Amino acid sequence: MKKEDCIFCKIAAGEIPSGTLYEDEQFRVILDLGPATKGHTLILPKEHTANLYELPDETAAEAMKLAKKMALLLKDKLHCDGLNLVQNNGEVAGQTVSHFHLHLIPRYKGDGQKINWVPSEPSREELEAVRKEITE
Ligand code: 5GP
Ligand code: ZN
Repeated sequence: MKKEDCIFCKIAAGEIPSGTLYEDEQFRVILDLGPATKGHTLILPKEHTANLYELPDETAAEAMKLAKKMALLLKDKLHCDGLNLVQNNGEVAGQTVSHFHLHLIPRYKGDGQKINWVPSEPSREELEAVRKEITE
């Protein structure tokens, strides 16, 4: 997708109005339009990169620092009981907007959301084969 057609580029640049929670030179932080829970927040770098694979190291580092700052703000203001930090890459992983973003999803007791996975039960041998595939 071309940057000119990217909705998050337009939002990050302020060309499309959004519920902005925070802004600096590198990032805009907004409320998600389809929130999983109250306070579901998106951190958008202003520079377009499609996903984590393409993200410059410096932006990655700054995004995580900002995620911590926003997590503390959400905890303080919304009194959430927990918080999920989610980042999707690729359609199969649930990415619907091809502009890197971090989700901060405040969690509340009994909120009924399901963000976690169903664990499988690989054997030790299977786990070791995967470890080798990744490291060798
Ligand atoms: P993804 O599925 O790519 O990880 O997340 C995309 C998120 O962006 C979704 O949670 C969706 O609700 C949100 N979203 C999509 N379009 C807009 C928009 O125009 N404004 C805002 N604030 N959020 C959006
Ligand atoms: Zn973009």
